[in-house]
Amino acid sequence: QPAPPLLQERGLIAGDGIGREVVPAGRRALEALPASVGLKFDFVNLDAGFETFERTGAALPNVTLETLKTECDGALFGAVGSPTHAVKGYSSPIVALRKKLSLYANVRPVKTVRSNPRRIDMVIVRENTEDLYVKEERTFDAEDGSGKVAEAIKRITERASFRIASMAGEIAVRRHKVRQASGAGSAREPTVTITHKSNVLSQTDGLFRTTANVALANYPVTVEEQIVDSMVYKLFRQPETYDVIVAPNLYGDLLSDGAAALVGSLGLVPSANVGDSFVMGEPCHGSAPDIMGQNIANPVATLRSTALMLEFMNEEEAAAKLYTAIDANLEEGKILSPDLGGKAKTDEVVEDILKRL
Ligand code: ATP
Ligand code: MG
Repeated sequence: QPAPPLLQERGLIAGDGIGREVVPAGRRALEALPASVGLKFDFVNLDAGFETFERTGAALPNVTLETLKTECDGALFGAVGSPTHAVKGYSSPIVALRKKLSLYANVRPVKTVRSNPRRIDMVIVRENTEDLYVKEERTFDAEDGSGKVAEAIKRITERASFRIASMAGEIAVRRHKVRQASGAGSAREPTVTITHKSNVLSQTDGLFRTTANVALANYPVTVEEQIVDSMVYKLFRQPETYDVIVAPNLYGDLLSDGAAALVGSLGLVPSANVGDSFVMGEPCHGSAPDIMGQNIANPVATLRSTALMLEFMNEEEAAAKLYTAIDANLEEGKILSPDLGGKAKTDEVVEDILKRL
């Protein structure tokens, strides 16, 4: 007896540029799924971004935030364009959304398909609320008159470090289960690598390191540690050795962009902004003004972000179906967008993936 469909509302924020071409793909995938997995989704389109700012004076209108808070249990975010020069009153709505919805983790899976000789399959779990991003900076004159001095606070808390490491532990356990169920790579131990630079920053990164170790002791995972500079080296030399990486905000930012470069195109890499009761899927790429409006943007990053969103809403069956369809398209390699060397339009890639659902 299948369970009755659960009505779940998702907010769709297309944003700017190619966000408007790829977010509809995510919606179509969600609409195609319910029949097979017993879910029912409802959608609401919401505005945010630079174009919204120019039109309304607010990059993140109140109605967008309120609707997300009161009516939605998840959201899909396309991209926001960044103005080339500082524009008075404009600040990124994505940063504001992360704060206002308490999305304290940024989760970024980086994976190659099976036909690729490199077997990369890792997830970077980046702390999203503190570290240098508290943006407490000040500039003053040096006492010896030698010029200006600028400082920024790097804040690390036990609470945020514990919570992000726990999420990394959960993700490692879940990935291991999925690997075992699929028979693929079940020999691989679930592993979390804590990255830091506590050899230099013994207090801030030291606290992150100690707390992450305490949190991860609660999970049946192998815990490893690596200093962030040597991690960058190994990430580029032997990316296939990593499973789950947990990092404070700044290192996580750098590592996840670097890791994205390993798999060929920004158009492939998804992310999710995760909190305790809300998840927002977001492709890693930006608004890509150079290719917008041509129906050639790769929709895979957004479709994978859609699957990732489902995963964090505990809709694992639906997520798995979508991942499988995406992988099948990539592995066959016939209907690919131009960034992957193909000739297919955005819509054709979406059609091919939906057909496989
Ligand atoms: P923004 O300021 O919004 O980040 P950007 O100019 O930095 O815009 P990105 O979106 O970050 O552009 O993209 C960087 C490059 O990668 C661009 O050349 C873009 O065309 C390409 N790119 C990004 N996303 C995709 C995609 N989904 N499909 C194909 N190419 C993409
Ligand atoms: Mg960019």
